[in-house]
Amino acid sequence: MKALIAVLPGDGIGPEVVAEGVRVLEAVAVRHGHQFTLQSADFGGVAIDAVADPLPQATLDLCLRSDAILLGAIGGPKWGGSDPLRRPEAGLLRLRRELGVYANLRPVAVHPALRSASPLRPELLVGVDLVFVRELTGGIYFGAKTRDAFSASDLCSYSVAEVERVTRVAARLARARRGKLTSIDKSNVLETSRLWRETVTRLMAAEFADVTLEHALVDSAAMHLIRKPSDYDVIVTENMFGDILTDEASMLAGSLGVSPSASLGDGTRGLFEPIHGSAPDIAGRGIANPIGTILSVALLLRHSLGLETEAQEIEAAVYRAIDKGLRTADIASADVNGGRAASTREAGEVILAELTAGA
Ligand code: NAD
Repeated sequence: MKALIAVLPGDGIGPEVVAEGVRVLEAVAVRHGHQFTLQSADFGGVAIDAVADPLPQATLDLCLRSDAILLGAIGGPKWGGSDPLRRPEAGLLRLRRELGVYANLRPVAVHPALRSASPLRPELLVGVDLVFVRELTGGIYFGAKTRDAFSASDLCSYSVAEVERVTRVAARLARARRGKLTSIDKSNVLETSRLWRETVTRLMAAEFADVTLEHALVDSAAMHLIRKPSDYDVIVTENMFGDILTDEASMLAGSLGVSPSASLGDGTRGLFEPIHGSAPDIAGRGIANPIGTILSVALLLRHSLGLETEAQEIEAAVYRAIDKGLRTADIASADVNGGRAASTREAGEVILAELTAGA
């Protein structure tokens, strides 16, 4: 197949981990006879340095023409200026809005060999295999804001259509997995949550009667996620609750470095990125974990290009490499390789070797 893929390495460790993701994409293309055209562009802090805009028009145009976008990470202390529109994060919010990607998918699967890297007791992690679907373009982060000397407010609003479309993404996923959807809200207090719950209930009864639906309040879900995370299959929730709960859930996997994400809209085009940031504390040292980015490449192939076999090959290569002892510094332990950690490049090499060797 032919595809145009925009590559936005970004800042800090972004370029280091994206380089390994690109090598995996190129290897998949050779192995399966695909023609992937990869085009890089400035985004985030590097774009601010180059043209004083975190999302230059040329970068946005490239993304809008592409079949999929692979992003590293953006931001860092250098770009913490006072003008919020000139900050790297403003570029990311704008890119998500322009692409219309309203559903953010974050799979959390804890590989048995990495259970000891999690702060949770290993026995709590047995069987954990869940996907968060976070609403990404509505809610309190996008509502009107007010501020005077004595008070401030942020408006949280959702429409029925916004709730329906993200619920459909989550329900389709649940249908293809274990058939269970948990919707998280705060309907005992918030009017937006009451609308959320009623809408999800109605839509699921009308279109997804075969998927089991449960509702949970965000406070008790935050607790249950730590107490018995294996209970969950697919979870759908609004923007701010999802922001908080997905960071909590990422700790189940042990390190921010191993988790991928996909942001999807109505079509197949999506934005794929590891869940971590630009990690300025380790940038330039070649020690970042590229697994979150490489697993994001797998999501890109699955969700934007429909290449399920290729996606599974990458995931299997990553898990075989971990089984055989691949550990970067963030997941190193004294029990494996005497605690010796692989560099970013070495980790990429090991995964590539597994990919080309096959099962
Ligand atoms: P971070 O995710 O960059 O780093 C948190 C900690 O995790 C650090 O100690 C870091 O070294 C470690 N870490 C992260 N990714 C790793 C990897 N792949 N391998 C090994 N260790 C890894 O979060 P932060 O420090 O809060 O933020 C740093 C910058 O990144 C900020 O400017 C923030 O705004 C930005 N950020 C960007 C995104 C994004 O691009 N989507 C997301 C989160 C944070």
